Amino acid sequence: MSKIVVQICCSVDSHYFLECLREDFPQDEIIGFFYNPNIHPYGEYMLRLKDVEFSCKKLGIDLIDGLYDINKWYEITKGYENEPEKGNRCTICFDDRLDVTALKAKELKADKFTTTLLMSPLKSQEKLKIIGDKLGVQNALEFIYKDYRSGSGGINQSLAVKNNRLYRQNYCGCIYALNAQREAQNRLCDELISLITKQILPNSIEYRLSLFEQRDKLSDNGKEFFIKKVDFINYRILSGLLKINKIAVPSYILAYSYLKNQKTNAKVEFIKNSTAYLNKNGIILIAIEKFNELTNRSYKSVKELLTNPLSFEEEVRARREILEDFSLSPVIIVDSIKQDDAIELALNATYFSDTKEEIEIIS
Ligand code: SF4
Repeated sequence: MSKIVVQICCSVDSHYFLECLREDFPQDEIIGFFYNPNIHPYGEYMLRLKDVEFSCKKLGIDLIDGLYDINKWYEITKGYENEPEKGNRCTICFDDRLDVTALKAKELKADKFTTTLLMSPLKSQEKLKIIGDKLGVQNALEFIYKDYRSGSGGINQSLAVKNNRLYRQNYCGCIYALNAQREAQNRLCDELISLITKQILPNSIEYRLSLFEQRDKLSDNGKEFFIKKVDFINYRILSGLLKINKIAVPSYILAYSYLKNQKTNAKVEFIKNSTAYLNKNGIILIAIEKFNELTNRSYKSVKELLTNPLSFEEEVRARREILEDFSLSPVIIVDSIKQDDAIELALNATYFSDTKEEIEIIS
């Protein structure tokens, strides 16, 4: 039996492509090969890999996971960081992915190889064909060039993504293209923000990983569901520092705390119920024992809270106990606070309109 090794870049490009390939090569064994060290950061790589696993499982196609050789990828694209998409960096990136796929095909004793990159409207099919044919000759393999995206291909591809509830990423993969895209969109590159704690921020890569894990489970259990889009105000802290009497102290800044000028000096106006109200920007400092009371927790210190925070949703609920829904005033948890303390706060935070996906279970 003939074998085809297919380099898979993402399920959006692969699902329909693999369906067509199976129809065109009914006698061949098709093996998926996920080799993409160009996908950054690693969380996004895992997200796309898991999604391709989900798609291949549905199609009954075996999938091999290639090496995430990110150091080699950075090395070969050195000097091409500022190239635009479809430029020389992309040619190097295709070369590497197809080269490693051809070697994998030889290792697996396959006689053909191809790539789902041919399905992407942002990739040059012509360029991919030249690279594929060259590697085919070098390795005594046939490179399968198929244009499944022409005609109604694009529509069929979109339908396959929708009907199978696949993950639709919104950037090609590498950090260079991602940065350039976000800069052009004047949008925060929040894909590169990852917390050292286990808190999952809304619409972060970790959020999507858990969403699609839930999809996989629901699908395995034969549940009916759909994935809906929700517009909302997202928030990220970029940096924060609180000093009391000129000394930096452990502090936990609650979500949606915002300081327009990013820096302020303030004094305590009054303290009530272990809650200090400052004379600037509506800032509120809350002692950890009061925070425990509000959240029904038993943190011994702010350091403990920092390493083991509430979930984002619980944190927002706690904030609502303190301030009204649309307030952006900084609310900060500290170990203790006194009436005559002098406060310095530096806070660089941002809020922005965003769209996230949520799962709605039907039955
Ligand atoms: S933009 Fe895409 S194809 Fe081009 S180098 Fe980056 S990941 Fe590779």
